[in-house]
Amino acid sequence: MNRNKKGLNTICTHVGEVPDDVFKGAISPLYMSTSYAFEDVDVKRYPRYFNTPNQEALCKKIAALENAEAALIFGSGMAAVSTSVMAFLKAGDHIVLQRTLYGGTHNLVTEEFEKYGISYSFTDGLRPEDFEAKILENTKVIYIETPSNPLLTITDLEAIAQLSKKHGIISMIDNTFASPVNQNPIDFGIDVVIHSATKYMGGHSDICAGAVAATKEHMERIFHLAKNFGGSLSDYTVWLLERSIKTMGLRVRAQNQNAQQLAEYLYAHEDIQNVYYPGLPSHPDHELAKRQMHGFGGMLSFELNEDFDASLFQKSLQLIKSSMSLAGVESTVLSPTQTSHALLSPEERDRQGIKDGLIRFSVGIEEPEDLITDIEQAIQKVRSRMITSTQ
Ligand SMILES: *Cc1c(COP(=O)(O)O)cnc(C)c1O
Repeated sequence: MNRNKKGLNTICTHVGEVPDDVFKGAISPLYMSTSYAFEDVDVKRYPRYFNTPNQEALCKKIAALENAEAALIFGSGMAAVSTSVMAFLKAGDHIVLQRTLYGGTHNLVTEEFEKYGISYSFTDGLRPEDFEAKILENTKVIYIETPSNPLLTITDLEAIAQLSKKHGIISMIDNTFASPVNQNPIDFGIDVVIHSATKYMGGHSDICAGAVAATKEHMERIFHLAKNFGGSLSDYTVWLLERSIKTMGLRVRAQNQNAQQLAEYLYAHEDIQNVYYPGLPSHPDHELAKRQMHGFGGMLSFELNEDFDASLFQKSLQLIKSSMSLAGVESTVLSPTQTSHALLSPEERDRQGIKDGLIRFSVGIEEPEDLITDIEQAIQKVRSRMITSTQ
């Protein structure tokens, strides 16, 4: 244990503050300037060089949260994903990707890579052997996502890191679903950690941003492409993101607790067929999740019994909103078939185990009893409709 390393909530609150030397204010001043002096300065600053005072400070906080040497903040999660991946690939290279991927990443690969002469393989399963089976002579990157969307499958971080090292390949993870509160992949040897900061880092459904953390050497390479691609984040949003991360530890730990309670409640419910949550002992990778996660996260998914109308259930919820995104302090649900995975063919959804009635649940910080009451009344509504329609 590194004694100089601060605890989670201390890092969230304090690391990477911009000191207010003029007025001694309690929070970071916001430097909106897009233009800085170029003479007699140590650093030539410019927002698209990712080095304004607020950007630099927030990068320190994110690096500390991921036990990384350095970090960069981007204008969106996809800017972070695309820049990181492309920084390590050129024409003639190959990348191995986990089959169950965030839809935007799947689209980036399948819609864009061919024209850059980059080839790719998706794994058949999620075991380390499934990744190794796809490695070719020219493979440069292995890309994983754990817990995955929407079925919360778990990929073995240590095994993937070892596999990558054995073959001299860069390993990358989309760590969005876990957030830095619940999982720090660098501790297991993963090279590059990516976040959609739009999710748990922002946490209030009002910021679009991305983040990447890695060694100085790897971040240097990513930065080089990043300033050419130009996907930096505006300083006002950087400042809002810093403020949001101050409470990330508190929020996410509360969401972990609520999700565990809700998962247990749903699991015991006679009208629910399946619950997917790594914190349940029934989850096939519960032990693995325990080994590599500090908490099981705020995301879960479930299926109502087959004869239940999942769409009517969702419409009947009153407190829990339907929403495309996730990870806010408010609880939300969505149907992957109708939204995040709508572009996949029914066969591909079937292959990934995503049933039409599956409901993805982003658990917020409300009182869990109120969430349960809302789900109960929605189930009762669906039940009463079933009775009237069979009469
Ligand atoms: C939302 C999300 C992204 C993309 O982030 P944006 O900020 O929307 O660009 C990437 N990966 C995961 C797992 C996500 O949930």
